[in-house]
Amino acid sequence: MPANPLTDDGEKVDKKAVLAKYQAEREKRLRPEGNDQYIEPTGKFARFLQDPYVEPPDRKPKFDEVTVAFIGGGFAGLLAGAKLKEAGIQDVRIIEKGGDFGGTWYWNRYPGAQCDTAAMIYLPLLEETGHVPTEKYTHAPEILQHSRRIAEHYDLYDNALLSTEVTNLTWIDDRGQWLIETNRGDQVHAKFVAMGTGPLHRPKLPGIQGIDTFAGHCFHTSRWDYAYTGGDPAGAPMTGLNDKRVGIIGTGATAVQCVPHLAKSCAELFVFQRTPSSIDIRNNHPIDREWFETLEPGWQQKWLANFTLLQTGGFADEDLVMDGWTDIAQRIRDKAMADPDQDFSPERLQKAYYDSDDEKMMEIRNRVDAVVGNADTAEALKPWYRQLCKRPCFHDQYLDAYNSSNTHLIDTDGKGVQEIVENGVVVDGELFELDCLIFASGFEVGTDLRRRAGFETTGRDGVTLSEHWEDGMRSLHGIHVHGFPNAFIVGPTQGANLISNIPHNLTEAAITIAKVISYGLEIDAKTIEVSSEAETAWLEKLEAGGRTFGGDPTCTPGYYNNEGKERTLAGLRNSLGYPDGPPAYFDYIEQWRTSGEFEGINFSTQ
Ligand code: NDP
Repeated sequence: MPANPLTDDGEKVDKKAVLAKYQAEREKRLRPEGNDQYIEPTGKFARFLQDPYVEPPDRKPKFDEVTVAFIGGGFAGLLAGAKLKEAGIQDVRIIEKGGDFGGTWYWNRYPGAQCDTAAMIYLPLLEETGHVPTEKYTHAPEILQHSRRIAEHYDLYDNALLSTEVTNLTWIDDRGQWLIETNRGDQVHAKFVAMGTGPLHRPKLPGIQGIDTFAGHCFHTSRWDYAYTGGDPAGAPMTGLNDKRVGIIGTGATAVQCVPHLAKSCAELFVFQRTPSSIDIRNNHPIDREWFETLEPGWQQKWLANFTLLQTGGFADEDLVMDGWTDIAQRIRDKAMADPDQDFSPERLQKAYYDSDDEKMMEIRNRVDAVVGNADTAEALKPWYRQLCKRPCFHDQYLDAYNSSNTHLIDTDGKGVQEIVENGVVVDGELFELDCLIFASGFEVGTDLRRRAGFETTGRDGVTLSEHWEDGMRSLHGIHVHGFPNAFIVGPTQGANLISNIPHNLTEAAITIAKVISYGLEIDAKTIEVSSEAETAWLEKLEAGGRTFGGDPTCTPGYYNNEGKERTLAGLRNSLGYPDGPPAYFDYIEQWRTSGEFEGINFSTQ
């Protein structure tokens, strides 16, 4: 194993040298175009937005009315549907562009797809549906199946419009209703409308010169082409690739999961890397049913609260989840507690974070040396940035895949692929001829909101949501928007903004919305709308707190830190969270919705 030049004695980290290396690696990767380096799949690539899994059923357009329409059939829609039904509101219609429920888990069926957050807290409504997760970190087919289970359990299929994409959402003031228009010619009126349209369904592509000239087969990981590759989402061998030279662009969380499967199937695999991911241990294991049966009713809420508290720096007697996320927080806590002065000032906590991160990243880099046989490949696979600069990855087969003689890491030293040509990919002047090119280039997460929505929402007085949010999102609790009566948003932003377990945010938003709508129906409210003052006060509170999801601007670029560019006002607002952190937000919102006052919201019965 080569000696690591940046460690003093194999134990201690030479912090100065490491920081200099972090800085140098970041500078290599900064691009003036920021997010604009990515392009939307249009023209030849428009098929990347289509549904490869089902043929949309032939049906007549709907012209009817519902009490609540929900746009999006992922976890947000499923949870809102469930909580509305539990609150006694039966007339709920979910409209979803995919052919089934599941959202990102409907689209992402690439081999090896798996959730990096523990199933016990990631899979919603486990107690309600009686499902016992099969393993600690569930694979995608089980998550998709669980989505269907929720939809069946809460009877959400009957009224749903699947394979249906909303094209326009318009408030009709004199009817006191929303008009929802779709690509299937539907015109549905709804008293209330809610949206949970998350970003992980809209693929983005790298704007590499010549990208549209490639004449071989190509697809994006979120629309895996099993008809071409063979195999299936459960990981069956991809026999269609046995005689193929395959390239994959991107080495983020998706590529890390599918590369080991590709390595087993392709004649030759070329992984084009711009920045290596940090690969910590996964350590997955089956869930023991007998142990599961011993859990007391109400366990899931307890586990959610425990994870969120520990993961965001709080203290608890026990770590119920014990995963990579709580481990990061535990290490920081241990460092802070070891301080002989017991000084927990923000500066000392920051230092505790840096110290624990230095150790963790050294461990991660040493693991590369321990697993990967070829010294040059190992060197190129080492991440030189703090663990939370980019999405941390956890995998036990990814690094080992590079020990297969057919698997080649083509490291671009931070520059990215130079060019795509008719018969392959060019890096540093060298052509790699390919039969198939796979884009593991991610989703419209950090990019402009307009690129992600897919439809326009027009509220009171013809004002669109894009106009209202020209300088960034404005809301109360990330849910209610002034000028958009009877409309609700379900997502993490401007609420808890808990990134390590998105479903926790969605669960709380769903419960809140069900409460607000039930109350509105109970008093026969015509409109439910946040006041302009309450919306502004919430935004000011969040801005003053400055808690954003956005990583450190000094990190290596990625969607966590706006590709290393300073955030615009809109970018900042679109990533804000409750100043006191997720556990405090969840306490706050529970109190808000159960107080019966719904402060900031006007219920108009006129
Ligand atoms: P990412 O956006 O994380 O990764 C995109 C990749 O493409 C990066 O490696 C990027 O490099 C690379 N890239 C972009 N342009 C070029 C170029 N010109 N040349 C070479 N490489 C290029 O997408 P993913 O699909 O991997 O992940 C998206 C998100 O989906 C994750 O962060 C995670 O939140 C979620 N996810 C969650 C999972 C789960 O467990 N729940 C599993 C999988 C994904 P660079 O790093 O240099 O920008």
